[in-house]
Amino acid sequence: MDKKLISVTADDVIRVLKEAFDLDPTAIQILIDHRVPCNEALADHPTIQVGTAENWRKYRPKSHNLPKNAVHTIGLLGLLNGVFGKPDGGPIAGAYDFICDFCGATNVPELDGKRSGDDCPLCVNGTIRLGPIFDFKNLWAPEKPKEDKE
Ligand SMILES: [Zn+2]
Repeated sequence: MDKKLISVTADDVIRVLKEAFDLDPTAIQILIDHRVPCNEALADHPTIQVGTAENWRKYRPKSHNLPKNAVHTIGLLGLLNGVFGKPDGGPIAGAYDFICDFCGATNVPELDGKRSGDDCPLCVNGTIRLGPIFDFKNLWAPEKPKEDKE
């Protein structure tokens, strides 16, 4: 194979993520949700997205795999987004459903506008959490004009 200069866009990466997700959603969900503890130097990188273990335990209380002493964490999308730089932490994001950790409500209008950690509007004891990924999106893509509804 000839070596040649290749230019890759965020949309190229998202297309491959979607292809992989269509082929094996369980594997890709686990891969995207995986976090590895990392040090301060990586956390200080100017474009790579590094999160906190505290946040990850909050967003994914049942799936996190972090040791108790973890402070900073990195995942696959954080690293891929580091290729594209700033602003706002990079263009590539998973699109998640939200789900109540108590009553299991998901994909209902009452959850529109809710965020992970909010109280469930449908039950007394529930907290809204990130549910499964259903797509990948480019946060930097220009918004498509909305179709007129009649
Ligand atoms: Zn609920």
